Amino acid sequence: MSQATGLLYLVSAALFILALRWMSQPDTAKRAVVSAVGGMALAVGGTLLHPEIVTYKWIGIAAALGFLVGFPLSRVPLTAVPERTGLSQAFGGMAAGLVGTAKYYLWLDQGELTSFRMAVVAGEVILGCLTCTGGLMAAGKLAEVITTRPVTYKGQNIVSFTLLGTAAVLGAWLVWDPTQSWAFPVIIVLALIFGVLLILPIGGADMPTVISFLNSYAGLSAVAMGFVLENYLLITAGALDGASGFVLSLIMCKAMNRSVTNVLFGAFGAVQASAQATEQRTVKSATAVDAAELLTNADSVVIIPGYGMAVAQAQHRVRDLFDQLSKRGIDVKFAVHPVAGRMPGHMNVLLAEADIPYDRLVEMDDVNPEMPQVDVALVIGANDVVNPSARTDAKSPIYGMPIIDADKAHTVLAIKRSMNPGFAGIDNDLYYANNTLMLFGDAKAVIGDVVKQLSGDGATH
Ligand code: NAP
Repeated sequence: MSQATGLLYLVSAALFILALRWMSQPDTAKRAVVSAVGGMALAVGGTLLHPEIVTYKWIGIAAALGFLVGFPLSRVPLTAVPERTGLSQAFGGMAAGLVGTAKYYLWLDQGELTSFRMAVVAGEVILGCLTCTGGLMAAGKLAEVITTRPVTYKGQNIVSFTLLGTAAVLGAWLVWDPTQSWAFPVIIVLALIFGVLLILPIGGADMPTVISFLNSYAGLSAVAMGFVLENYLLITAGALDGASGFVLSLIMCKAMNRSVTNVLFGAFGAVQASAQATEQRTVKSATAVDAAELLTNADSVVIIPGYGMAVAQAQHRVRDLFDQLSKRGIDVKFAVHPVAGRMPGHMNVLLAEADIPYDRLVEMDDVNPEMPQVDVALVIGANDVVNPSARTDAKSPIYGMPIIDADKAHTVLAIKRSMNPGFAGIDNDLYYANNTLMLFGDAKAVIGDVVKQLSGDGATH
């Protein structure tokens, strides 16, 4: 490695670490993205300066192909980012698997396959291949191309872990005797099948956490790839990726009050909840005029956004509503659930896009003790994250998941288009409660109507 490359790698590693640090606050998140992109540009630039590279033709072709695939992928709507992330992880895993495979056959041919090299190649290929099919499965479940329900059968975990164990034993055998080359493709196939089996029994509602776990597997396979390629920056970046993915998974498990093993092996979403789901119950619906009157007569309003706000792209209308209410001296807060929407930070990104002041955003643990004193809880396209059965119904698949206690407010206004369930596929008692009024319709249109009432002749105070 040349001195220039070493220096670029050092700056790049520092930029990656700063990016992770800055990513933890909404007001520094943009700087974090610039820092990470800059770090990656320096890393690629430094690698291209490697003296071993004698021809740039293939690198150019690969970069052009990558750009052709990557550019359209970067244009997906925000709501499709989780499945896009699953696909990126699949590609990352595939790259690690392919590099490991190429290096195995190259080193085997040249008689340079030491035990250490074989061990890291085996680790890289197993992790890379399982991340590849695992990422594809997770993307498929999130895009609902394959069933979001957990697919389970008897002895599932035994079958899955026998496959992984066999791949690991074959890997160890190759470390002992690398010339048993028939075992190498078997390891690849076993790891690819394990990736599918790993995700199959996990329900759609747990996919965000799984994506984050896959992120950490992809990081670990990059670490192994770094050892294989003797690239220290890849080892550092992979370790940062692996560790941050793992920490995020733990934070998400905590937010859902679930253990890691329950998320990975609990087949969450398989059981259909309470008998109430099939009962005919009535709801009270309201109009934009009623909602405007209720809101203007309130002293405190807590807005609880969910996936529906993202679908409707209602964030700018929500900002107009916030302005109208604040103008009247009403205390308006936004309660953001850690897994509202379809990816970590989904609601924060949308609210930031609409320039909602950060100090108006409150976390679940801080807002819940205040909910019994709140005049109006305005639920905008949120469902699972405000479902009281998580607190009260031990048979519910989301039992134990912490929720925002919207039901404890004096009045609840809930905006959604129909009585369809949310991501977990279960009914929500909140909509049938005595203190709840439903505002049926697309969130953007409904809030637009309420804002019209507030800004025009329909407003009362
Ligand atoms: P949710 O439970 O999925 O409910 C969203 C609600 O929005 C639906 O009931 C839907 O009802 C309504 N909706 C959809 N489009 C709408 C529109 N245009 N206008 C108005 N309403 C609309 O969402 P959530 O409460 O945010 O909960 C998130 C769920 O997703 C959790 O189960 C979580 O575990 C899971 N998840 C989270 C992440 C993450 O990282 N944040 C990632 C993947 C999955 P209608 O169809 O009747 O309108």
